[in-house]
Amino acid sequence: MKKILKIFFGPYKKKYKKKRPTISLGLDKKEYQNKKNEFLVIANKKTVFFNEFYKFEYNKISIRNQKTRWGSCSSRKSLNFNYRIFLLSEDLMDYIIVHEICHLQEMNHSKSFWDLVEKKIPDYKKKRLELKKYYFIN
Ligand SMILES: [Zn+2]
Repeated sequence: MKKILKIFFGPYKKKYKKKRPTISLGLDKKEYQNKKNEFLVIANKKTVFFNEFYKFEYNKISIRNQKTRWGSCSSRKSLNFNYRIFLLSEDLMDYIIVHEICHLQEMNHSKSFWDLVEKKIPDYKKKRLELKKYYFIN
């Protein structure tokens, strides 16, 4: 059977005590590579779009398979996004992208960081709560 992009919502295993929605991408290596390139195009477009407002400097954008985080921003001003963000709803994806863009300016979660996020995502608190509902699986 051909493997397809798969998002699994619902309780995964009993060992996860809390029943939260989970996200998984059932792809082999080559298919993942193709998807990753597709996601990178979206990430680049969205970063350019939101950064038209912020105008921060950045270097490289990468798509990664990370188990514990949605994205990160390095001290070298590179943005990394978990491929799983592209399986989320677009507004959650946008929130994560804006979050990482704002780390280009504020490498912390201070009040001034959240003020920056709020400029583009006024209901970011709601988005953060929504994201907490998700687990990563494989
Ligand atoms: Zn952060």
